[in-house]
Amino acid sequence: MKIGVLGAGQLGRMLALAGVPLGLQFRFYDPAPDSPASEIAEQVVANYNDWDALTRFAEGLDVITYEFENIPVETVTFLEQFASMFPPLDALRASQDRLTEKRTLLTLGIPTPHFDAVESWTELEETALRIGLPAVLKTRRFGYDGKGQAVLRTQEDLQGAWQTLGGSPLILEGFISFERELSLIGVRGRDSDTRFYPLVENHHREGILRLTVAPAPNVTAELQTQAERHLNTLMQTLNYVGVLTLEFFEQNGRLIANEMAPRVHNSGHWTIEGAETSQFENHLRAIGGFPLGSIRPRNASLMYNCIGEMPERDVVLAVPGAHLHDYGKLPRPKRKVGHLTLCGFPEELERHRTTVEELIT
Ligand code: AMP
Repeated sequence: MKIGVLGAGQLGRMLALAGVPLGLQFRFYDPAPDSPASEIAEQVVANYNDWDALTRFAEGLDVITYEFENIPVETVTFLEQFASMFPPLDALRASQDRLTEKRTLLTLGIPTPHFDAVESWTELEETALRIGLPAVLKTRRFGYDGKGQAVLRTQEDLQGAWQTLGGSPLILEGFISFERELSLIGVRGRDSDTRFYPLVENHHREGILRLTVAPAPNVTAELQTQAERHLNTLMQTLNYVGVLTLEFFEQNGRLIANEMAPRVHNSGHWTIEGAETSQFENHLRAIGGFPLGSIRPRNASLMYNCIGEMPERDVVLAVPGAHLHDYGKLPRPKRKVGHLTLCGFPEELERHRTTVEELIT
C-alpha cells in the first residue's frame, strides 16, 4: 500500500518511520525542499496549487493524508478524485478557521471559552466589553505556536493588539485562568473502532509546547471520560478516520476545549516509546483500513521538545531511559528541531529529570 502525505515536516517523517516496518510505502508533497520527511521517502517539491505536480504526486497512491492543517481545501478536493482522503475534508475545514472550529465545538455541546468574530476596531471594542477582559485576540487562520495572538489585559492593550493583528480576520476569546492544559488523542478506524490514549499534561513557554507529561498526573476516571465524550462526539459528527487531537484547559474539574488538530500531534510524540502502539502507527492503521493497535501506555513518559537547537547526542544517550529524535532541521530560534522522551517508572523519571532538563534550553 502506498500512502501520500501532504506536508513533509517532522510529523510526516515520523509517520513514515512508523509505517515502513508495516510494509507501507510513502510519497510526500511539500513546497519546501530538503524537508525532514525527504530523508526517509520520495517527495514531490511543488506548490499546493500546482495541479500537474499534484496529479504526478497522486499517481499510484492508495490513500492520501496530511500532516498539517493549513493545506488549501481546493488541493484536498482536487486530490479526492485520485485516492481516498483521510481525515475527511470537513475536519480540515473546521480546524483551519478558529471561528468555524469554535462554532463546531459549541454546536456539539463541547465547552469553549466565550468567543466572537472581530472584523473592525469598533467590533473589537464592543466584543471586549461584552466578553470582558482579560481576553485573547487571535487571527482566525494560520496561527500556531502562539503566533498571531495577543492577550488583552487592560483597555489600553486593545489599540496595540489591533495594530499588530487588525489586518486579518480575528476572533476574541475570553481568557481562561486554567489550572493546567491537557490534551486527548484519539484514533478512529474506517470501521468506526475508536480508541483514546490517556489524557496528557502540556507545559508551554512563549506559546510553544516544551513538555508533555504522560499520562497526566491526578486524572480521575471522570475527567478522562469527560474528555473522551467530547472527542468521541466530534469524531462521530465528522465521520472521522485517523488520529484527532483535542486540546483542553482544565478549570475546577471541567474541561474547556481550546483547539482541535485533525492529525498526529506534538503532545502524542511520547507514544513512540511510551505506548504499545504509537499515534503515528495508529493513524496509518486507521487510514489504511487495518485493525487499530493498543493505546496502552507502557509506563510513564516525559516528552521534551528541542527548541532552536539539538542537545549533545552523546550526553542525551548516556541518560537511562532517554530516547532522542533529531528531525534533521537546521537550528533556528523558536524552531522545533527534535524531541527527547524519557520513559520509565515514575521514580526513575524523577531521578533523571533534572539531568535532561539541564540539556534542553
Ligand atoms: P493556541 O494557539 O490557541 O493553542 O494558544 C497557545 C497558548 O496560548 C495555549 O496553549 C494557552 O497557553 C494560551 N491560550 C490560548 N487561548 C487562551 C485562552 N482563551 N485563555 C487562556 N490562555 C489561552
